Formats: sequence, structure tokens, C-alpha cells
Amino acid sequence: MDGELLTVGTELVLGLTVDTNAADLGRALAAAGVRVLRRTSVPDDLAPIRDAVRSALGRTGLLIVSGGLGPTRDDITKRAVAEVLGKPLHHDPAILAHLEDLYRRRGIARMPDANRSQADVPEGATVLENRWGTAPGLWLEDKEGRVVVLLPGVPAEMRGLLEHEVLPRLRKGIADADAKTQGSAPVVRSRMLRTTGIAESALADLVGDPARFLPPSVTLAWLPSFDGTDLRLTAWRLPGAEADAALEAGVQALRPKLGAVCYADGETDLAAVVLDLLADKGARLATAESCTGGLLGERLTNIPGSSRVYRGGVVAYDNDVKLHLLGVSSETLAAHGAVSEAVAREMAAGAARVLDADAALAVTGIAGPTGAAPGKPVGTVWIAVRWRDQLRAFTHVLPGGRDAVRRRAAQWALDYLRRVVTGVV
Ligand code: ATP
Ligand code: MG
Repeated sequence: MDGELLTVGTELVLGLTVDTNAADLGRALAAAGVRVLRRTSVPDDLAPIRDAVRSALGRTGLLIVSGGLGPTRDDITKRAVAEVLGKPLHHDPAILAHLEDLYRRRGIARMPDANRSQADVPEGATVLENRWGTAPGLWLEDKEGRVVVLLPGVPAEMRGLLEHEVLPRLRKGIADADAKTQGSAPVVRSRMLRTTGIAESALADLVGDPARFLPPSVTLAWLPSFDGTDLRLTAWRLPGAEADAALEAGVQALRPKLGAVCYADGETDLAAVVLDLLADKGARLATAESCTGGLLGERLTNIPGSSRVYRGGVVAYDNDVKLHLLGVSSETLAAHGAVSEAVAREMAAGAARVLDADAALAVTGIAGPTGAAPGKPVGTVWIAVRWRDQLRAFTHVLPGGRDAVRRRAAQWALDYLRRVVTGVV
């Protein structure tokens, strides 16, 4: 089955909001076996929405639209689509009752009048109940059997409706069509191996020519970021079970080539990997951060359940904090400067002691753009890892601007902890 995507929102075309709905929709539809041929974004205006819907339906029989269903937008997407399909809007009392009930349950006695228009639906539409918000989704079919699905723009609502209402219907449609051809529906599926602490070019040397070891239907994509390079394997247009088997074979062939630079099979964040490792050992972690200013704490506490392992951290930005809260010695600071191996080690030892932890991470560096000193260019970072009775220190000169240096430093710190705990430094 072929289809197109349309995202509606002035904020999307202005680049003020990143169009995550288009990405989520693309991935989910591909996995369900829909071949997405085009995606379009238009502002919240009647004419561009109408034009986009009309031209998409001229090319394909399935159009998924997100955004512009909200009460403040005068239901512009719904009106535009109803016009193109020639279906007048009707008031649906069941939706109104649902909306009023929703407001009551949130403790708001009187629903704002603006929400009333959300109960207007195009004739013959199937209403997709929105359990995550107010605007329901709509499933519309025209005389030629072409399908237009309208979903709200709020990402959590879009995803909820997609998973629980849209994909099951699409899968059924695909399976019905498939039953006629006696085959099984082709899907596009991916798996990801995550690597860090290695340059993309060095990784390319490790991997070699993917055509020599991957199954023929599987391709390899390189996705570099501040955190490392993700390797995404994709199986194209195979029946589901065959796609899974081809991906598993691809992962089995690729993973041994990567060795210790691979930290996860899937979307898992390195912080979660580190927390799991420490949790398995019943260990507790503390942080002492200078140039990362809390990024490590943010990464760690972003993981649900991190409190099992993470005790907390000290943002030791000023030297006084390094001295008085972490117990770094004034002699060490005077002799080596704040960005030094000796200070990083004393910060890690201090954090483990003060916060009563078995493991501690310390980061001190020059994020720039100013602050460089002789022998210490912008990007110089010292990372110390305390793990039980070991105390190790590592240094890098990290490339990029302030944001890049800080983010790379946090990732390196987590990776060194992973490596020290697993004994692969
Ligand atoms: P509805 O309330 O039905 O979602 P709407 O999409 O027009 O209608 P908006 O107020 O425009 O409502 O969007 C709601 C929130 O969802 C906003 O924060 C908006 O930036 C965000 N959003 C809308 N479309 C997208 C998208 N394609 N990707 C990511 N975020 C989006
Ligand atoms: Mg919008």
C-alpha cells in the first residue's frame, strides 16, 4: 500500500517546532508495510491545506494528516478536507458529550465554547476516540475508496491515536489485500547498534564493506551525533518474519566487529546502560561536574528508576565549591589549575566520599569560547572515574562549540565509567 503524509502547522514550516510527527508517522507506517512516497508540510491556512490534500489524493489512495484539529485553529484542517472530499460537516452529540465529560473529570465545570467546534465531523467519517486529549481523530473515505486520516498535532495524542486506532485499521486493510494475493505483507523494519568513543572513519575501518557480511535485503546507515555513531540496519520490503530474521542475522554479523565501542542494541541511552551495570553490582553513583554543569545529572535522572543507583551530584563550577564541598586541596588547585588530571581525580574521590557512593564521575574542562590557557586549548577536558578502589583519569581535546564540548564530555564520562566497570579500558 502506498501513502503520503501531510503535517499542518505554521510553526512547522517556520522551523520553530521540529516536525517529530512526520518522523514518527514515517517510521510507524513503514513498519506496518505502507510505502510512504511523499511528505509535505503546510501552514495553518485553508488554501494550502486544501491544495496539499487534493494533490496528494491525485497521486495516492492514503493520506495521513496531523495538526490543525485544535479548538484554537477553527478546525481548519477538518474544514479543508471536508471541502476537498465534498462532505458537509455535521454536529456529533456523542463527541460533545465526551468533551464535556473530559472537562468535568479535569475539574472544570464549564467547557470553553471554543471546544464546541471539535464536535463537528464530516459526513460519513469514522470518529477515532482520543483518550489522550480533546480533538478526536477522523477516518474518512471517499467514493473511490481513497482514505484520509486526520490526527491531532500534539505529539503524544498523535502517537496514541496512531498506535491504537490507525495502525490496527491499516494492518487489517493490508492483511485483507494480502490474503487475496496469498503472500504476506512486506514491511520495512530497522534495528540499531549504538557506538561511542570512536570516530566515524575509524568505525568504518572496523566495519569494512557491509555488502560482504549483511544479508542482501539489509542496508546499513551511519548516524553520527555528539554522542557517537549509531548504525542502523534496515530490512526492506520483506514479509515481517523474514525481515526480523534478516535483521537478526545482520546484527549477529556486525556486532562482533564493533567490540567494546558498541554499548547498546536498540535505542537505549548510554546513561541507562551505565545505571543497569551499576544496579547489577548493587553499586551507587555520584557525580562532580564543572564544565558540564549538571548535564551528567540530567542524563542520569532522565532514566526512570535511576534513584536505585544515582545518589546525586555536585555542580562544582566555582573553585570554592571544588575546595569546600568536594575537598579538593588548595595546593592541587594552585599547582595544576582547575582543568587538570589532579583536580579531576580529587573531585571524583571527593564526590564518592561526600555522597557515600561506590562509583563517582568527575568532569572538569574548558568549554569555550574563552578560557584557553597555554597547553590547555578550548575543548580540553579531564574526566576521572572512581570505581571502588580504582581511580582513573582520562583526557581529551574535544572539537566543536560550547554545546558540543559539554555534550561530548558528558558522553565520554559515562562511557569511561562503563569501560572501567566492565574492565575494557
Ligand atoms: P490539535 O490540538 O488537534 O493537535 P493543532 O496541531 O493545530 O491541533 P497546535 O496548537 O497547532 O494544535 O499544536 C499543538 C502542539 O503540538 C504544539 O506545541 C505544536 O507545536 C505541536 N505540534 C503540532 N504539529 C506537530 C508536529 N508535526 N510535530 C511535532 N509537534 C507538533
Ligand atoms: Mg497546529
